Amino acid sequence: MKYEAVIGLEVHTQVRSSSKMFCSCANEFGAEPNTNVCPVCVGYPGVLPVPNKKAIHATVKAGLLTGCTIAKFSKFDRKNYFYPDMPKNYQISQYDLPFCTAGKIHLSGTGFSGAELPDKDIGITRIHLEEDVAKLTHFHHDSGVDYNRAGVPLMEIVSEPDLRSADEAYAYLNSLKEIMRFGEISDCDMEKGQMRCDVNISLRPVGQKEFGTKIELKNLNSFRAVHRAIDFEIERQAELLDAGVVLKQETRGWNDDRGESYLMRTKESAHDYRYFPEPDLMPVTFTDEEIEAVRATLPELPEAKRQRFIDDYGLTPYDAGVLTADKQLAAYFDEAAKLVKTPKQAANWIISSLLALTGEAGISVNDSKVTPALLATLINAIDSGKINGKIAKDVFADMFESGKDADTIINEKGLAQVSDSSAISGAVAEVLAQFTKQLEEYRSGNGKILQFFVGQVMKLTKGKANPGMVVAELKKQLGE
Ligand code: ADP
Ligand code: MG
Ligand code: ZN
Repeated sequence: MKYEAVIGLEVHTQVRSSSKMFCSCANEFGAEPNTNVCPVCVGYPGVLPVPNKKAIHATVKAGLLTGCTIAKFSKFDRKNYFYPDMPKNYQISQYDLPFCTAGKIHLSGTGFSGAELPDKDIGITRIHLEEDVAKLTHFHHDSGVDYNRAGVPLMEIVSEPDLRSADEAYAYLNSLKEIMRFGEISDCDMEKGQMRCDVNISLRPVGQKEFGTKIELKNLNSFRAVHRAIDFEIERQAELLDAGVVLKQETRGWNDDRGESYLMRTKESAHDYRYFPEPDLMPVTFTDEEIEAVRATLPELPEAKRQRFIDDYGLTPYDAGVLTADKQLAAYFDEAAKLVKTPKQAANWIISSLLALTGEAGISVNDSKVTPALLATLINAIDSGKINGKIAKDVFADMFESGKDADTIINEKGLAQVSDSSAISGAVAEVLAQFTKQLEEYRSGNGKILQFFVGQVMKLTKGKANPGMVVAELKKQLGE
């Protein structure tokens, strides 16, 4: 490829909030259309907006989590345009003085294609707060407008043009989503329209410093679509540049079914929004104390958590990744890990057993009867030699159904591991006496038969014998 892609993303995320940005209407997805509306959010003349403080703090939190500078003085502005999704004919947004500027997000993990990512930060130009607009639904002959969404607090996170591939964009979006979720700022559920993404992309010859002409792709509705759209655009633009075409700035849409982008409008028809300061709202000021109070509420971010799980608990990067994919799951593991001597074992049980059963039952780990403390009783029973790994699987299945602790289940079912040496030596002697043919084979040099004997002793003890002791006793009685 003789071109390098230059990509910047503009991401909108709805702030998690029970009410709207400038009125007290409920912010609720899936309600009957136009039921969560009032004179403010449908823009009756003469009404006054009242800002949602929680949404402003959530935006500051997003800024702090991405290393932004928080403006001590900022304001809201009117973005003027005419379209039925905003009956006031303007959207309250922020223009030249957003709440957050100059942050960064570190790329981590692998891209969608599985390829390693470069170790680098993606600059965050700004994060500002605005109100969402109504949702238009186009039917066969007409269109419906749902003003329930109008006025929902919406953040816009604009990145620097620091991304260089579809994989990097995909990873950036994943990191951003993780940050929003861990910060409890936004749920970022794309199916509910809580996270939407515009892609800006240009190509330049490898080695050239100046950027090429930017094309904007609007309203991509999944990370997968972003990835596909970028790869498509890189090829489309490269072909045009190869043919000597001089590209013009334009806005394009993405048709995911056809896997191609299409022209929406050119730069010549771009809007002039005639931004001006919102006269009905006071500028917003923050003191250092207020910013520090928000900083005190910041959670540990997934990337830091992953590293801590690797460093402190000895997990593999893969396991640490699985366990930090979800905030509740990470907290669950963290709690269990503190209660056992072998945190790595806790990770194994959660990943291979607990997630399998909760997945089947369609519940979250927190809804299962197996609390971290209960899981710890199982792991401690294994670590102390009370049960072996095989029996532990049955104990775990029982625990998942009954919510009983490991010791109770072990006692009720008589599952305690036989670590009594006389019982084990008796069982070994019995097996060696019974399987004379195999014993001969062993004596004539077939070492593999040892495993057969171990299996028979386990069978005789109903799986309860301490496997280490069985092997030692077998070797002893076989004269090794
Ligand atoms: P606009 O004013 O048209 O919205 P901005 O300069 O604000 O343009 O940038 C919007 C987004 O486009 C940002 O994410 C930015 O990183 C990205 N961007 C800017 N120039 C380019 C370029 N030449 N190629 C790719 N992305 C770009
Ligand atoms: Mg833009
Ligand atoms: Zn309202």
